[in-house]
Amino acid sequence: MADAELLELRPQGLYCAAGDFFIDPWRPVERALITHGHADHARPGHRRYLACERAQGILRARLGGVALQTLRWGEGLMLGAVRVSFHPAGHILGSAQIRVEHRGRVWVVSGDYKTEPDPTCEAFEPVRCDTFITESTFGLPVYRWRGQREILSTIDRWWAGNAADGRASVLYCYSLGKAQRILAGVDASIGPIVCHGAILPLNRVYEQAGVVLPGVQTADDLGDAADRSRALVLAPPSSAGSGWLRRFPEPSDAFASGWMQVRGARRRRGVDRGFVLSDHADWPGLQWAIAQTRAQRVLVTHGQVEPMVRWLREQGLQADPLATRFGEGADEDEAGAPGATDVTDVTDVTDATDATDHAGENAAHAHGEPPVARQD
Ligand SMILES: [Zn+2]
Ligand SMILES: [Zn+2]
Repeated sequence: MADAELLELRPQGLYCAAGDFFIDPWRPVERALITHGHADHARPGHRRYLACERAQGILRARLGGVALQTLRWGEGLMLGAVRVSFHPAGHILGSAQIRVEHRGRVWVVSGDYKTEPDPTCEAFEPVRCDTFITESTFGLPVYRWRGQREILSTIDRWWAGNAADGRASVLYCYSLGKAQRILAGVDASIGPIVCHGAILPLNRVYEQAGVVLPGVQTADDLGDAADRSRALVLAPPSSAGSGWLRRFPEPSDAFASGWMQVRGARRRRGVDRGFVLSDHADWPGLQWAIAQTRAQRVLVTHGQVEPMVRWLREQGLQADPLATRFGEGADEDEAGAPGATDVTDVTDVTDATDATDHAGENAAHAHGEPPVARQD
């Protein structure tokens, strides 16, 4: 069986027969290795879990009292004849790539990853391997992120402008990872910051892990209408239209996601602004990460699979799609966002700034107020 695949697809998920374990399985199994806490990867119902210790707080918040064993970054554990270890993926707190070694062969499963440094999690660490299983959520040449500092400054200017106009700033973002990255990066001196109840417990997990976040209030803390009108309000997409948000009358609203680079995505979400900020690698980031592994064989999953497979084959690598179920039904992970498959629907990078988008479509303002031209 020397030629057998070290990892193979089973109905339950990605399986390693030599070590008798699954990685991020989607159906209940005996032993699950978990890359990170997003719901499309860390599912309930497995008998035993193994993860990186930096993911422990998130997994406990998500899965409760499951049987969870953890390893430090890079620490090896033998499962049968297989050595496994966890290495930073740079996606959210504790997100890991999983290295699997058996008789001199090395496979690495990327999980979700990004290559831009992020103060809320450990930076992506390239791991050499023979076969690399990579995500490809934004695996198209049009996806090229601007630096997060630039995006966060744009968010600050939007917030400050709204505060000056006496309007709250409601920013929709995924509650695990994106919300904490925004919190850590905005200028908290502009006004009070309010987080939805779905975000608050995850903030505490980050703080317990040593990540510095600014002070945050609940909507109840801000009894004064003047305070509410200066607030930055972070809320998960699912809270749109909820009674909770009605405490902030006539806000400006926005969405922070890599999908905001897709033409029409902001309008479909019905928000005033779209900020292109992703916790997944862009096209150059994916290419860089794959090259760093020096893998001769790459299996592509989780997003824009075909363009990436084609590109890798053009580079002379052995590349194939891998049909996992990551990204399915995960409202909180960008991979689950709708409207991503229409390649023709992606804006040209040169005019992808939300400022341009905003100016052009201000007339479609959703709150029935006169459009306000803002130079940012
Ligand atoms: Zn994820
Ligand atoms: Zn995912």
